[in-house]
Amino acid sequence: MNPFIIPLNDWAAGERNFLSHAGLEFFQKFGNTEILDADVNVEIRVLKKSAQKVEADLHLSGTVTVPCDRCLEPLEISVDATPSEVFTPGEDPDWDLSQAVYDYVCLSLPMQRVHPEGQCNPDTVRFLSHEEREDEEAEAEANSPFAALKGLFDSK
Ligand SMILES: [Zn+2]
Repeated sequence: MNPFIIPLNDWAAGERNFLSHAGLEFFQKFGNTEILDADVNVEIRVLKKSAQKVEADLHLSGTVTVPCDRCLEPLEISVDATPSEVFTPGEDPDWDLSQAVYDYVCLSLPMQRVHPEGQCNPDTVRFLSHEEREDEEAEAEANSPFAALKGLFDSK
């Protein structure tokens, strides 16, 4: 049973409130492997203006756990978003808000997902910065005059 399907047929115009929850299984159903855990409460205030126009104000609040970009250890991120949606009911008497809920939670995640300074796992950070150093060395080699010469010879 999808907890984000709003039935629209069995009530007249007016306002209704729904309370749902998005846990880890919800995100897994969308094929998301980045989210390690989730605990997001979803309040939905549905305003049915007419049979042709329905609006919803959502309040997504809770936490989502993703791997830290720096140390790969779980990082809990707070989610607090209040998006709005508009729906024009056609043949479908139900309004499925799951895609919207999924999208808004993903959109609310920051681009940079790292623990506060000093809270990363030092073991994995060391490992990662070592990898980075190797990349830099490889890059420096590629930028050296010899690499450029090598490129010249190769192109002949
Ligand atoms: Zn970290």
